[in-house]
Amino acid sequence: MVELNMGVVQPIKLTLKSRFKFRCHPGVPCFTECCGRTTIILTPYDVLRLRQRLRITSGDFLEKFTRREQHDKSGFPMVVMDMARFGGICPFVRPVTGCQVYSDRPATCRYYPIGQGTLITEEGLDEFFFFIKEEHCKGWEEDTQWTIETWRSDQGFDLYDKMNRDWKTLMLRRGSDGGPVADERGNNLFYMVAYDLDQFRRFVFKSRFLQLFQVEEDVQEKIWDSDEDLLDFGIKYLKMVLKLEDAKSVGLVPATQEAGA
Ligand code: SF4
Ligand code: SF4
Repeated sequence: MVELNMGVVQPIKLTLKSRFKFRCHPGVPCFTECCGRTTIILTPYDVLRLRQRLRITSGDFLEKFTRREQHDKSGFPMVVMDMARFGGICPFVRPVTGCQVYSDRPATCRYYPIGQGTLITEEGLDEFFFFIKEEHCKGWEEDTQWTIETWRSDQGFDLYDKMNRDWKTLMLRRGSDGGPVADERGNNLFYMVAYDLDQFRRFVFKSRFLQLFQVEEDVQEKIWDSDEDLLDFGIKYLKMVLKLEDAKSVGLVPATQEAGA
């Protein structure tokens, strides 16, 4: 996700078959210009991938590279790449070699110069696409042909979309409720579960969590070993805590009255 100057968004809703010409490579005169003076909102899966790439704890990643903000519709916490701390540019960009975390770059960087919008409807999520045409971006003058579908595939987007979809649903459903924003305790829980997975793992295994909820042993093994499984489990847990789904439908059985309350 990125906060956009709407003047650069082309107001045409694209489909997977929409065509465009674009190429970004180290030879373009604007190389790395898009890696600064912008706001990149990190999804939980972006944080997971980047901290794995850097081999640091989720807490250290959040503290060193991000700042916490609030999603205007849902009131939930969001994590933003803190470029201001690095002179207004992304901490992972270098002038000659470009992105130092390329294979683990955030979803927004993968899609650019395509934007992705998401609406929640009665049938579920409606995802659509649009062009972002910024004057400095010379990749539009190149000749390589794409459809949105081939661009998505080239940028490895299926996995990112799969991992981000439940989180997006959570943000949008809360935002569309018209209900009160989450309180501070709920927000802090949301932040820990979605972004600070090491802390959430400690919460699950070192607190009374496993006394309050029955969690199958094979699930316990998985979430101990895998950040991806832990994130998936955490989002389900949040859906239950936030009363968007009941415990049974997210596969968490309260072991005590206290947990189900
Ligand atoms: S993560 Fe990589 S692609 Fe994204 S803004 Fe930073 S340097 Fe650029
Ligand atoms: S501004 Fe456009 S062409 Fe230039 S480096 Fe960024 S994405 Fe590539």
